[in-house]
Amino acid sequence: MTYATPDGDAAARALPETPRTLFINGRWEPAASGAAREIRNPADGEVVAMVSEGGREDAERAIAAARAAFDSGVWSSVPAPERGTFLLKVAAGLREHREKFARAESLDTGKRIVESRIDIDDIAACFEYFGRLAGQQPGRVVDAGNPDVVSRIVYEPVGVCGLITPWNYPLLQAAWKIAPALAAGCTFVLKPAELTPSTSILCMQLMQDLGLPDGVANLLTGPGTKVGAPLSEHPDVDLISFTGGLETGKRIAATAAATVKKIALELGGKNPNVIFADADFDAAVDNALNGAFVHSGQVCSAGARLVVEESIAERFVDELVRRAEGIRLGGPFDDDAETGPLISAGHRDSVHEYVQRGIAEGARLRTGGSAPSGEKYDAGFYYLPTILDQVQRGMSVVTDEAFGPVVTVETFRTEDEAVAIANDTIYGLAGAVWTQDAGKAQRVAGRLRHGTIWINDYHPYLPQAEWGGFGQSGVGRELGPTGLAEYQEAKHIYQNTRPQVTGWFADHSKEN
Ligand code: NAD
Repeated sequence: MTYATPDGDAAARALPETPRTLFINGRWEPAASGAAREIRNPADGEVVAMVSEGGREDAERAIAAARAAFDSGVWSSVPAPERGTFLLKVAAGLREHREKFARAESLDTGKRIVESRIDIDDIAACFEYFGRLAGQQPGRVVDAGNPDVVSRIVYEPVGVCGLITPWNYPLLQAAWKIAPALAAGCTFVLKPAELTPSTSILCMQLMQDLGLPDGVANLLTGPGTKVGAPLSEHPDVDLISFTGGLETGKRIAATAAATVKKIALELGGKNPNVIFADADFDAAVDNALNGAFVHSGQVCSAGARLVVEESIAERFVDELVRRAEGIRLGGPFDDDAETGPLISAGHRDSVHEYVQRGIAEGARLRTGGSAPSGEKYDAGFYYLPTILDQVQRGMSVVTDEAFGPVVTVETFRTEDEAVAIANDTIYGLAGAVWTQDAGKAQRVAGRLRHGTIWINDYHPYLPQAEWGGFGQSGVGRELGPTGLAEYQEAKHIYQNTRPQVTGWFADHSKEN
């Protein structure tokens, strides 16, 4: 069997019959069962890698390795600034090998190489941020109100972490977990999405080359039910940090409750993009297009719900339709392409069913609603940018996440109505407000129940700013100082420097 090389080499390389992509206790191993999985490029269906399909037995070994490494103190006893220095070296390695990482990400996900390069830069920046933060957590001294008492708070690593990630931003989502976990002194088992493991494998190789002690970082490639579920079940795992879909998140939370693990959940979103009539029209249209259709909408914070002031709605949607129809689809290395395919045939089918359901419920299809035709697209999992208007609150296309290139349009007349529509969701991940009235922008931003609010922009995020969801978009925060705190336990150490008899209980033997 052969596969396309990440550098696009026409002379395909041989695929290993029994790949060794499980990284357990510093060794690369095949699955105990010997099972393997082909990874295919969603743009053309070509096999691009072969990885071990791990199972429960492999998960047990990885958890045991992470537990032993944590309990030995091999990483947690490394001074925090030195752990930070290690993360800075990882960042430098990512920057040095940017093209290799970007190509692997594009081949697994089908996303454009230019987007993958941006992802790798963002991933390096994430490692740099936590690398610098690592040495800046000295704890704090507490005033106990008693000169004989020294009271202080120290931050210690949570322990063994199970890190479970999705396929849309494979290494980026992993980096948001790996970097703070290592900064805090934790050990971990990473379980990337089964469809997109390649950059996680490369990242483990990089950390191994940089001398990370055995057992600190472990990798399980394989399906969620087989190698993901044991992480949330196992008593030796102290924390589960999960990014993925709502239903999986609920399952993980329920399972983790049995051993009272700490949990951090980054789930889906149904994110409102609120456009007031006084917005900069061209910028708002252009960013609405980005918000909805970047990475073909496979973005947790996608602006999938346009909420437009009625007086400009018709002109706004006409222009959005015109622009959406001009979006060029194509594979990762197609220079003309502006966005790529969906991750799989199954996912494309579910996006199509979602659109059909919306139309059946009364939505009007303004554009898209099908796969593009043409030889170029036949082998890939493409779907046209799709706009549905005349939707009503409560319709499934308005309440449910499509995780594809689909945007719905609702209209409002007043500021209060805009806020009510934008908050009418079980989710609460992100949203945007477009207006040139700074007071209105701040007022509305303050009233929106979502974890990130953009004003006159869409999609930027910063490693130093917290990311996460209100409502059913999740529990906890990634990035920023809170993103490090997720991997730490706060311990109070109270020392009495002048111990004395308290006299609380009398010594009754001395009474007579
Ligand atoms: P998913 O929930 O299907 O899978 C996510 C991960 O969980 C995968 O690695 C999968 O193998 C694993 N998994 C599946 N079942 C499991 C189980 N029972 N126990 C343990 N692990 C299990 O999600 P997906 O389809 O990969 O990703 C898309 C979803 O991710 C969308 O809903 C999207 O909104 C969400 N997402 C959220 C954010 C965020 O920051 N909030 C970021 C990216 C993606």
